Amino acid sequence: MSVHYDLHSHSTASDGSLRPAELVRLAKLRNIDVLALTDHDNVDGIAEAREEAGRVGLQLVAGAEISVSWGGKTIHIVGLNLDIENPALRNGLQKLCEFRQWRSQEISRRLAKKRIEGALDGARRFAKGNIIGRVHFARFLIEQGHAKDMRQVFKRYLVQGKPGYVPGDWATLEEALSWIHGAGGQAVIAHPARYRLSATRLRQLLGEFQLLGGAALEVVSGSHSRDEIQQMAQLCRRFGLMASAGSDYHGPENPYMDMGRLPAMPANCLPLWESPGWAQSRQTPAMASLSL
Ligand code: AMP
Ligand code: MN
Ligand code: MN
Ligand code: MN
Repeated sequence: MSVHYDLHSHSTASDGSLRPAELVRLAKLRNIDVLALTDHDNVDGIAEAREEAGRVGLQLVAGAEISVSWGGKTIHIVGLNLDIENPALRNGLQKLCEFRQWRSQEISRRLAKKRIEGALDGARRFAKGNIIGRVHFARFLIEQGHAKDMRQVFKRYLVQGKPGYVPGDWATLEEALSWIHGAGGQAVIAHPARYRLSATRLRQLLGEFQLLGGAALEVVSGSHSRDEIQQMAQLCRRFGLMASAGSDYHGPENPYMDMGRLPAMPANCLPLWESPGWAQSRQTPAMASLSL
C-alpha cells in the first residue's frame, strides 16, 4: 500500500481555521500518513499537532511556510523537518512576526482612510491571539459586508494596488534557506505556479534556489492545475530539484484546497521523501547516534 503525504497545511496558529489537533485528526480521517504542519512564519502549532499525531498514529513533519521578498514579489518557502528549537530559526521567524504586527497596524490605517474603521481590532478578533495575516482582515471585511467571499475581498482590498495592501518586507531567499538548513530541514518552493512570474523570472528564481541548496519544488499543490503540475515536473528535471506535494489546506470553508484529494506525483519526478536527506532528518538524535 502506498504512503500518503501532505506536506503543506495550515492551522489556527496562522490563517487556517482548524486547531492543530483538529487538523491532524482530519488528516488521519482522510488517510494521510505523513502530514506537515506549515503555518506562515511560525511553529507555534507544532507541539499540539505532534501530540495529537502520536495519539492517532500519524507522522507529523514539523514545518513552516516562510514569507520571502524576492525581486519585488512575495514568495513562499516551505521548510520541512525543522528543529523548531533552533535559535537562528526562531529568531528569524520572530522578526517576520514583528513585521506582521507592524503591517497589521498599517493595513488598518490604510483601510481607515477608506472609512473602514476598527479593522485592526476586527482582524485581531479573528486571529484570536495568534499571528495576524491578511486572511484575518479578509474575514473582518466580509463580516462587515464589504465583500461577499474570500476571493472578492482579496481582489477589492488586499492585493497590490488596493486600499489595504502593504508591500512585504520579508526575509531574503538566502536568509530563509539558511534558517531552514541551520535547523536541519529541507527547503521547498511552495505553489511555484502561483507567483505570476514570467517564465524567465521563474527560471531565475529556481536557479538561485538551487544554488542556495534548495531541495524541491511543490509540484503537486492544491492550487495547481493538471497542466501546471506537468510544467513544474519538467522544471524539477531541468534544475535537478526534487518534488514535493502539499494541499495548502486552510480549513473546511476554503473549498478549493481540500485535504486527502491531491493528484498523484508525476512518475518522472523524484519525490522529496525518497531522498537520503529526508530519511536522515527524520531520525531522532538517538537513532542518528546508533547509526554512527
Ligand atoms: P499574508 O501572508 O498575511 O500576506 O497572507 C497570505 C495568505 O492569504 C495566503 O496564504 C492565503 O491563505 C491567503 N490569500 C492570498 N491571496 C488570496 C486570494 N486571492 N484569495 C484568497 N486567499 C488568498
Ligand atoms: Mn495562508
Ligand atoms: Mn503560500
Ligand atoms: Mn500555505
